[in-house]
Amino acid sequence: LAEKLSNSFKKLRSKGKLSESDVKEAMREVRLALLEADVNYKVAKELTGRITERAVGEEVMESLTPAQMVIKIVNEELTALMGGTGERLKSPAHPPAIILLCGLQGAGKTTHAAKLAYMLKSQGHRPLLAACDVYRPAAIKQLQVMGEKAGAPVFERGTQDPVETAKEAVKHAKDYGHDYLLIDTAGRLQIDEELMDELRRMKEAVNPTDILLTVDAMIGQESVNVAKTFDELLDITGVILTKLDGDTRGGAALSIKAVTGKPIKFAGSGEKLDGLEAFHPDRMASRILGMGDVLSLIEEAEQRLDEKAAERTAQRMMQNKLDLNDMLEQFRQVKKMGPIKGILQKLPGVGNKLDDVDIDDRIMDRTAAIILSMTPYERAHPEELNASRKRRIAAGCGQKVEDVNRLLNQFRQTQKLMKQFGGKKGRKLMRGMGGGM
Ligand code: GDP
Ligand code: MG
Repeated sequence: LAEKLSNSFKKLRSKGKLSESDVKEAMREVRLALLEADVNYKVAKELTGRITERAVGEEVMESLTPAQMVIKIVNEELTALMGGTGERLKSPAHPPAIILLCGLQGAGKTTHAAKLAYMLKSQGHRPLLAACDVYRPAAIKQLQVMGEKAGAPVFERGTQDPVETAKEAVKHAKDYGHDYLLIDTAGRLQIDEELMDELRRMKEAVNPTDILLTVDAMIGQESVNVAKTFDELLDITGVILTKLDGDTRGGAALSIKAVTGKPIKFAGSGEKLDGLEAFHPDRMASRILGMGDVLSLIEEAEQRLDEKAAERTAQRMMQNKLDLNDMLEQFRQVKKMGPIKGILQKLPGVGNKLDDVDIDDRIMDRTAAIILSMTPYERAHPEELNASRKRRIAAGCGQKVEDVNRLLNQFRQTQKLMKQFGGKKGRKLMRGMGGGM
């Protein structure tokens, strides 16, 4: 999928200017990508229509190619469609904030009630969980187990009418100074009158600050109907999209926002308590289109840094295979960023302190020249450089054997450093630096 997309974008990239039919052709593939990502058909069609309209005739920013410009627009529109950033829980005039979690069975209500409690606790709040799923025998126990892990108490009244339990939980929260009450409710396999009626009564009884619909990202298209029905009945205030750790692209996110107009407030992944974060529309946009590779085209244009090469180098560092070819590549990368002085001046605390310092960018050029006059084999096996090879290299770049030796020393130092760096810790660090999505 990602491949298909980047192919279509490549087609665009090879041309200087965008014609209407270029954009239309690309949009056809974007639409396919959206459909494959489980985005509702109507939503996909409207979206690509809007993007086409905007892309044709839009001025291409100086730093971008026309193709990159289209990609940028696609990404912006997707992001906008999923709502702005910073959608938070509402705060009520008087605590506690009451958050009602609803959704189909297995969507992740209980798990995410506990995750929310955990998140709130870590922010210094005093959440209380309320067990209002009374139909499955194990449901209360499940919440108690998870609540304990999250360090939040659980209010339960066994199998009595859950609406009553919810009311009592509100009172309990007030009496005991809890500033958040998280109500875990029952779900069914399908939307069902009885369940909806119970939720409606519960809403009336406790007047929640937030009604969050929990949606399993893996159910795909079906999520549109689910979201629509719950919203019509309960007027939800937001959505928690769960199970994003699966391999679904999460097109549900697009559809839900487009169909209900309600924001996705949280993204959940994994069964552990820390698997919850504020929803980031921009990240979701990349995920839906499988645009990791495509987006990097934009970044490339913006910062002129070849991430792929950096990643390759990092990989080789970790395997202790770093050689002079990599070093040369590093020089190329750094050079793309402009004069060294300019780079240093951007570092915090440096600024104009360097104004009177003369930094000779040619040092790097001279080092690169030495490496360039080696054969690729020599670059990969610097340990095999004997005296006669060194003389040849020095002559080739118009420098001295000492200069060659200095470079080799420098390189050995780097290698040694990398060895210390190795092992698990180093690998983790490198992955972080690679910025993989
Ligand atoms: P509920 O019926 O809506 O309360 O759903 P649960 O919270 O009981 O979750 C149903 C199942 O999905 C459980 O086995 C959870 O461990 C699992 N689960 C919940 N959220 C996630 C998630 O974000 N990722 C993954 N992989 N599993 C999840
Ligand atoms: Mg549950």
